[in-house]
Amino acid sequence: MISENLLKVKANLPSDVTLVAVSKTKPNEAIMEAYETGQRIFGENRVQELTDKYKALPKDIEWHMIGHLQSNKVKYIAPFVTLIHGVHNYKLLKEINKRAKNEGRIIDVLIQFHIAQEDSKSGFNFDEAKEMLEDDNFSLLENINIRGVMGMATFTDNKEQIQDEFRTLNNYFQIFKSHYFKFNENFTVVSMGMSGDYEIAIEEGSNMVRIGSTIFGERN
Ligand SMILES: *Cc1c(COP(=O)(O)O)cnc(C)c1O
Repeated sequence: MISENLLKVKANLPSDVTLVAVSKTKPNEAIMEAYETGQRIFGENRVQELTDKYKALPKDIEWHMIGHLQSNKVKYIAPFVTLIHGVHNYKLLKEINKRAKNEGRIIDVLIQFHIAQEDSKSGFNFDEAKEMLEDDNFSLLENINIRGVMGMATFTDNKEQIQDEFRTLNNYFQIFKSHYFKFNENFTVVSMGMSGDYEIAIEEGSNMVRIGSTIFGERN
């Protein structure tokens, strides 16, 4: 089933949209089924689980950390993580930079924006992100590479609201790109859209979707 689901989702995605297969809570066998179908990018939201799966599974998998990351746990994923989606404050970004430096790596990250009408979701607002990018010490962070933005829409049936929230995130991306990353060819990623809303997200400019349950089945 996983293989079938994956192929169906992929057939639905425009070729310029990257699929992150969200495998959180799912066993290694499930990931291997997707792997054997050709999938190489997987997303996890817990550090311990991500680290265990990294150790057990093929080394050509690209692991994305998509969940709420605490600063004190960055060190565990710094050696191998491919992209950290959820950079939700400046302190966390500095910690990622420090741990990346220790590992002799440059780690790709996305700035997470709070676009939903739910307090449980974290992220910068527009002014906070602006402040960080304009901070004198920001340019000293040489071991991080800001690749773009990430956000989650409100969990709702109201399609217009979801549309508005994704549109807002894409606007932020465009503004930040033209103001701070104009000459940076790496600032390209708009990570938005999950199983329930990825089609809307793509209409609103997403080029990276994070899809779990549609591929792997419902989580407990
Ligand atoms: C769990 C999760 C997803 C995937 O959710 P599905 O609804 O199962 O597709 C995407 N993004 C984040 C940040 C998540 O935590």
